[in-house]
Amino acid sequence: MAKAVLIMDFPESCSKCKFLYEFQGIKKCQLMNVLNNGASKLSQSTFTQKRHDLCPLRGLPGKKESDSFLIEAVKNDCFDGTDSDTAYFNGKDAGWNACLDEILKDGGMRKE
Ligand code: SF4
Repeated sequence: MAKAVLIMDFPESCSKCKFLYEFQGIKKCQLMNVLNNGASKLSQSTFTQKRHDLCPLRGLPGKKESDSFLIEAVKNDCFDGTDSDTAYFNGKDAGWNACLDEILKDGGMRKE
């Protein structure tokens, strides 16, 4: 099935997350509730300190500095030293960052 991405601030802990809720005095996660058929109880002692070990949220990777892929290619002995190889790896930096820009812009990737 096709996958979807929800863009939201990445909480440091469950206590700072929009998916936290409380039921009969027990802290739970709405997202885990939906994804895990009701298994959503959070650690009552650590929910203010960290995200649950099975938290389904994934952090976005950061933007690449220019030459990041080129430096990596040199390290891994995958760079042939030509101008076209330089352009190829610099293009990967640009493409990576353009993808992140598209995901993070207001209304980004939204299909109306
Ligand atoms: S497990 Fe993840 S999604 Fe659920 S409340 Fe904690 S931080 Fe939020």
